[in-house]
Amino acid sequence: MSRKTVIAANWKMNMTPSETASFLDSFLKIFPVPTAVEIVLAPPFISLPKAAELMAGQSAVGLSAQNMSHEASGAFTGEINAAMLKEVGCQYVILGHSERRSLYGEDDLVINKKVHATLAAGLIPILCIGESLEERDGGQLEFVLSQQLEGSLAGIDAAQMPGIIIAYEPVWAIGTGRTASPEQAQETQCYVRSVLERLFGADVAAAVRIQYGGSVKPGNAAELISQPDIDGFLVGGASLDPASFAEIVKAGV
Ligand code: PEP
Repeated sequence: MSRKTVIAANWKMNMTPSETASFLDSFLKIFPVPTAVEIVLAPPFISLPKAAELMAGQSAVGLSAQNMSHEASGAFTGEINAAMLKEVGCQYVILGHSERRSLYGEDDLVINKKVHATLAAGLIPILCIGESLEERDGGQLEFVLSQQLEGSLAGIDAAQMPGIIIAYEPVWAIGTGRTASPEQAQETQCYVRSVLERLFGADVAAAVRIQYGGSVKPGNAAELISQPDIDGFLVGGASLDPASFAEIVKAGV
């Protein structure tokens, strides 16, 4: 089954609205944006409307939030709901990023509620999973990943799964400059797909796109994307520069 490559830029807490405008001004001019790759930008909440305005009229680049509340509305100071994201033009939401898990205490239970809320609103979740170095070195890799998948996907129907993107991001490779080798990433993503097969069946496992994330750069993107179970990237640091993000996108074409 062919899975369309999906490459997403996670800008984290970087890029004001005016910086977002300069990025897009450069990025959209670098090349005729390829339609063979699904490109997604995830600016901070405050920069989403500017990005949506500048991306209006072109469908090659999609817009994502970096987080979302599972609550519909009400007394949740500082939170953003699905309706707000949809109104500013988001189609995707990154959920369960390791920084949300480690710095803001998000666990699989809350991430699961967010996955349900995102799907109910017609948004595409980019669900992040990944192990720490201690967990990998301690032989816990498969246990941790299967727990994260079972917990965050609890109650999701097989029919909903092709509408979810999984991002495998080893925590030790995020922002560290230390990338998983293509073989390590392939082996782990193949395992992730086997868990999806156990949970949802072979057809679903073959259809779900699994991104790799963790210090992806122009120099390592081509080798990583050539692996059969790597269907795209979630890119942090290297996505802040339009030329380097464009190089990574080109590697996926
Ligand atoms: C990320 O935060 O999702 C990420 C992969 O970051 P980086 O590319 O900087 O390692």
